[in-house]
Amino acid sequence: MGIALVTGASRGIGRATALQLAQEGYTVAVNYHHNIKAATQVVNEIVERGGKAFTVRADISDEAQVLAMFEALDREGEPLSALVNNAGILFQQSTIEGLSAERINRVLSTNVTGYFLCCREAVKRMSHKHGGKGGAIVNVSSAASRLGSPGEYVDYAASKGAVDSLTIGLALEVAAQGIRVNCVRPGLIYTDIHASGGEPGRVDRLSSVLPMKRGGQPEEVAQAIVWLLSDKASYVTGSFMELSGGR
Ligand code: NAP
Repeated sequence: MGIALVTGASRGIGRATALQLAQEGYTVAVNYHHNIKAATQVVNEIVERGGKAFTVRADISDEAQVLAMFEALDREGEPLSALVNNAGILFQQSTIEGLSAERINRVLSTNVTGYFLCCREAVKRMSHKHGGKGGAIVNVSSAASRLGSPGEYVDYAASKGAVDSLTIGLALEVAAQGIRVNCVRPGLIYTDIHASGGEPGRVDRLSSVLPMKRGGQPEEVAQAIVWLLSDKASYVTGSFMELSGGR
């Protein structure tokens, strides 16, 4: 089935996706930034269950590190067949008055430039144009791209708006090259990202306003990503799947 690269797979939605992709038979490249211990645990869990996986460190906002990561994948001897652009960041909840250029640029360089760079390198390897076998890409956006995250992190929401546009444009650009590009937009999911915004209990605080009256689990997002990457979704490209409990 080839290699599936999952960025930010050391925890949260990326971790759940890596575990499920390994069960489907992919060799999973578990990308992480800081937490080698957590990434290694994900690999160990996959291997214990009979799957194949390896860790690959790279800050996706750094072009040289992204290039080195894809070169490491090339040395594995299997084609890259799937990319999950998942690694994302946000910072302390704030109105726009508290946003510095430095913060905005950090959010955009990871959540937007990082996704672009990984898409670029994946397309080079997957495209029929370059002799590749084709492949599938899923971008992890957010319901924030529709809702705007007022008073919390409009910078983050705007970065996810860019991910949506990237998905539309790239899906059309590479549709005839054997590559499908789709997007998931999770809502409130139980992961540690909310602690980065300064409110670890955010999902529970807001769950009562959701139509389904509960937050989502990372595994529920992972299932959708795995389906979009699979041949079961062979006629699906440029699509958005809302994983937000009805909001
Ligand atoms: P999370 O628990 O905070 O995990 C983030 C992951 O991204 C970690 O594995 C982290 O690696 C990695 N990462 C961060 N910066 C990176 C960089 N520059 N290069 C490479 N890896 C980097 O996040 P999550 O909640 O699972 O979110 C995953 C994706 O879903 C994000 O794109 C997020 O925006 C989106 N999302 C989440 C929710 C939600 O409610 N949780 C809702 C909508 C969308 P290290 O720990 O090794 O540094």
